[in-house]
Amino acid sequence: MSPATGAEQATGRPAPLVGILALQGGFEAHERVLRRLGARTRQVRVPTDLEGIDALVLPGGESTVMTLGVEREGLKEPLCRLAAGGTPILGTCAGMIMLDRAHLGILDVLAQRNAFGRQLHSFEASFEVDGVDGGPVHAIFIRAPWIAEHGPDVTVLAEVDGHPVAIRQGRILALSFHPELTGEDRLHRFFLSLAGFGEPTAKET
Ligand code: GLN
Repeated sequence: MSPATGAEQATGRPAPLVGILALQGGFEAHERVLRRLGARTRQVRVPTDLEGIDALVLPGGESTVMTLGVEREGLKEPLCRLAAGGTPILGTCAGMIMLDRAHLGILDVLAQRNAFGRQLHSFEASFEVDGVDGGPVHAIFIRAPWIAEHGPDVTVLAEVDGHPVAIRQGRILALSFHPELTGEDRLHRFFLSLAGFGEPTAKET
């Protein structure tokens, strides 16, 4: 017997196909969370990998290396076109940096790299994310950015020390931290809900 996936059960629709940029960084952890939630996943390395995907994840890693990979593979323009077409995108940590004005220019934000200080490589914190039900989110930060500036279309969903660490602009979600590493799946569920799959765990704003 092959039971319906979680996403199929929740929506009666085929499981969403989520592309995960897999040039570098922590793409496999996202793959595991998304599959557990019933999504199908595809590693994205070249522009043709973007064809037919319902949503896209830009994982954590090293934004300088990821930027070189995106340029080398000619991915910048196809990624921007995908975002302009309304495809939901989740960026975590380096993925948040990739989305900002200084990189892909998909979000009207400026991310500050290694914002919590170079010495403080990693820390964990728990905090409420606006609209995410079920209590505080447990988050791990690894040489994380924060949002230093943002435009009027950006909604701040959570802050640490007065700095935005979770934001949303339309169907694009950017997080300074790594929900894929803490067994936390509510942010991925919210992300899938932006693509029209599954029950939303955060209110539409
Ligand atoms: N410090 C990294 C950068 O600037 C991001 C770290 C991460 O993704 N965990 O790209």
